[in-house]
Amino acid sequence: MKIAAVQAIPYAIPYRTPLHFASGAVHVADHVLIKITTDDGVVGWADAPPRPYTYGETQKSIVAVVQDVFAPELIGLSVFDREKAQAVMARTIHNECAKGAVDIAMWDCMGQILGQPVSTLLGGYTDHMRVSHMLGFKPAQELLDLALGFREQYGITTFKLKTGRHPVGLDVEAARVLREGLGPEVEIYMDANRGWSANQAAEVLRQIAELGLTFLEEPDDAREVLGRRRLVTQSAIPITADESAPNLGEAAREILTGGANMLAVKTARTGFTESAKVVAFAEAAGVDVYVGNQIDTQVGTVASVVFGAALAHTSRRAGELSNFLDMADDLLAEPLQIRDGAIAVPTVPGAGTQIDPEKLEKYRVD
Ligand SMILES: [Mg+2]
Repeated sequence: MKIAAVQAIPYAIPYRTPLHFASGAVHVADHVLIKITTDDGVVGWADAPPRPYTYGETQKSIVAVVQDVFAPELIGLSVFDREKAQAVMARTIHNECAKGAVDIAMWDCMGQILGQPVSTLLGGYTDHMRVSHMLGFKPAQELLDLALGFREQYGITTFKLKTGRHPVGLDVEAARVLREGLGPEVEIYMDANRGWSANQAAEVLRQIAELGLTFLEEPDDAREVLGRRRLVTQSAIPITADESAPNLGEAAREILTGGANMLAVKTARTGFTESAKVVAFAEAAGVDVYVGNQIDTQVGTVASVVFGAALAHTSRRAGELSNFLDMADDLLAEPLQIRDGAIAVPTVPGAGTQIDPEKLEKYRVD
């Protein structure tokens, strides 16, 4: 059960429908597959999505840090030595998605060796995750048509509206059209990806006050501390930290200094090991979390399902688990299905991240 090889395999799969949002756009899933092989032949997989506009990582940087910096230190460790692996990787700052994927691939190996689904090992709270679908920048009526289609086809009843546009009236109008068209029972929340100033965000909050939105994520730049704190204090709905809280320490800092009163948890950047610590902190601090999306493939999404369903605190809210529907293809050997608005936790030993070898051959770019 010792790590014998750590590979980082770059690949590219186009999106049928590119996603546009305040901090960027995604046209191609130019991700990196992390493959860990043990000395007794167990293979663990995970997906690392480069998000340069959020974390500064690129496809090439992920391959380089995993193969040149992490791999030489990880080889020889047991796949069960995940705190040792965390300590090794912590010597290099940032590189969140590279670290997260290495951790998930190790968990995949652990689950296979123990003959248990990783969701069971992490907590085993429930057997499914409800799905929230993310809506990018589009005219209001188009967004409503899309949301109605997703509700009809997949039973999805929670939607994230990507916002942060100028003038802010575009986003207020989109929220209003969605609320009127979807009815009061559907959950809607906003993510501005730091697209507004604190004052603009305050204006949006005033204008959407009657629409019953659940929370507002990253309204402005969290580094503008006083503006953000004022928003958190004055807002009737939680202000969620996502990219301002990409790891345990920063999540704690944002909550404790009043920069947010809710947290996004993303396995793509904190793996399973650190995500569990973020959730424990949130639970202790009495703040809600939700399982977010890094515009994940099915390989990334299944990891979010496995983690989200494992814990009571993360399974309470719908997770963002449907961006893969916009991709032209995927690498996951056992394709994910969204039924009645939910994805079932894989019951196979491991993390459910097993890869289709033929598809990997087709899409790898190394
Ligand atoms: Mg976000």
